[in-house]
Amino acid sequence: MSSMASKVVIREELLDMIFEGARRLHPKESIVLLRGKANKDAITISDVIIPPLATHGTSFSAFAAHMLPMDFSIVGVAHSHPSGNLKPSVEDQNRSMGRIMVIVGYPYRGVESVAFYSRNGEKLTLEVI
Ligand SMILES: [Zn+2]
Repeated sequence: MSSMASKVVIREELLDMIFEGARRLHPKESIVLLRGKANKDAITISDVIIPPLATHGTSFSAFAAHMLPMDFSIVGVAHSHPSGNLKPSVEDQNRSMGRIMVIVGYPYRGVESVAFYSRNGEKLTLEVI
């Protein structure tokens, strides 16, 4: 297997959409799916999608994964941490889906409020375009 890309590229407006959704649900967690493309060098996010039947709790977010269409363009999931802590919890790692996990933290503004991780929990480089 080839090594995985360690860089994520996202348009500023998409990052703002993730922040906006997180602000709206705060202090509950928000969760969105990320559509995009992966190649050797980078994973490029192309869309932010609200998952079907999302439930929002104060300490977890979940959605009906079985309701999702078999869609290989889903590269990962973004969710919010109302505490502001950008580290993935053990639970987050166990439930990660796709290649990348994105955590946005309160106050949901700017690159200090977001972290991108690989499926194994390694931090990925972010490029906002
Ligand atoms: Zn989490």
